[in-house]
Amino acid sequence: MSFPNRSWLKRWTSLPGYLISIIVHAILMLVLLHFYLPNSFRAFQEIIFQPGFSENSDIFENLTDPSAASSEQASFAAVQVVAIPANPMDFPHEAMLPLLTQRPQWNPAASEQVSSSADPRLSAFAGRGDGKGALLALYGGSEGSERAVTLGLEWLAEHQNPNGSWHYDFTRCPQCRGKCGNPGPQTSSNSATALAILPFLGAGITPKHGEPRHRQVVDRGLKFLLQNGRLRPEGLSFIDSTIGPMYHHGITAIAVCEAAAMTQDPQLKEAAQRAVDFIRYAQIPTDGGWRYEPQDRSGGDTSMIGWQIMALKSGQMGGLHVPNEVFFKAQRFLDSVVALDGGAMYKYKSDRDATPATSSIGLLCQMYMGWNADHPSLIRGIEYLSAEGPDRDNLYYNYYATQVMHHYGGETWRRWNQAQRDPLITRQSLEGHERGSWYFDGPWNDEGGRLYTTSLAIMILEVYYRHLPLYQQQAVESEFPLD
Ligand SMILES: [Zn+2]
Repeated sequence: MSFPNRSWLKRWTSLPGYLISIIVHAILMLVLLHFYLPNSFRAFQEIIFQPGFSENSDIFENLTDPSAASSEQASFAAVQVVAIPANPMDFPHEAMLPLLTQRPQWNPAASEQVSSSADPRLSAFAGRGDGKGALLALYGGSEGSERAVTLGLEWLAEHQNPNGSWHYDFTRCPQCRGKCGNPGPQTSSNSATALAILPFLGAGITPKHGEPRHRQVVDRGLKFLLQNGRLRPEGLSFIDSTIGPMYHHGITAIAVCEAAAMTQDPQLKEAAQRAVDFIRYAQIPTDGGWRYEPQDRSGGDTSMIGWQIMALKSGQMGGLHVPNEVFFKAQRFLDSVVALDGGAMYKYKSDRDATPATSSIGLLCQMYMGWNADHPSLIRGIEYLSAEGPDRDNLYYNYYATQVMHHYGGETWRRWNQAQRDPLITRQSLEGHERGSWYFDGPWNDEGGRLYTTSLAIMILEVYYRHLPLYQQQAVESEFPLD
């Protein structure tokens, strides 16, 4: 006795692997192209560029290329909003069905037009625009997580200084005056400002996009950073503290690179390029890593490399010039801190033990630097992080590991998200001036204080749309090379 379904299944399983792969990719492509192309095209037609950084241009006024202003477009404001299912965790893939049925016809003419105009490098940030609700539903966000993000952004906006900056000691800002607890002892205004801006950018808010009152917040913060960078022969330095100086530069560079990618503003692009140049200069020639000081001969560490690689990759995805050589060198450093054969676990330095935090940083760097989803070491690393699960208090680990798991996707991501999302939401402060922020004891939380923990917590809850999953993005780009 044979059932029709079974014989169909038999035929399916007897297909060559590459044919199955093509069919699966074709389905994935149709889904993803729906996200990117038609709406990118619409955004391209509709969005009018409004230069947002023409004032206060004393640092960069001689550095910008006026012709660059013609290349802007807002493809990050791409996908459609769909209703969030009551419990998206239960059926994330069903959230795609309305998208598929709404647009059953493929329009090659439209795709060609977009192919010639859209910049695929911006697609890493494509989820932050109008359509983030669709991604929120697809990848396991909820109304509760979005409410927490909104409240968190309100707290950050409330603690901005009059000059556009933030301090780790936010109690100095006029609106707070000590009404909130747990300021951090770090003194870098640049990295504090960057940490405050990043969650806004993650939510799709730039000086040109998003909720109008928050646009101003981001605009003032970015202007502060542009004015506070120091132009040196090696590039633009955001070092403004003697304690772990390259941390402050790397974190600030990520914010500037993301803002440049999302706005395509010529001044921001110039600043971002020069900040990336400074990271290249600071890379340690002997081991390919980064340490507190530029070119520190004592050798790099894994915590430092995480911020720098993310800045370089954000810059590259935004169209900046980042030579592959810098990644080849960084790969050498990662090879030197591998704890298990093949790269599933990573140490802080070669003479230390591997930890979940340093392993998640190493794995995220490897994902961005080219590991495929079926890389055996990545699979082992995912199993390791999956067994560890999100930590209750270590937001630094959770920030990196959450990105790793989200990029990897599938059932492991569902389980990770289920373990992390709601417990994190319930720890948000809801009383008094602290309303919208997070603070609890945990590794390094006291270093950056409530500003740092709030920033990381928001970005963790933005993971659903902050970066499009790497492997799906790769599939789109390899099938449809756009330049
Ligand atoms: Zn306060």
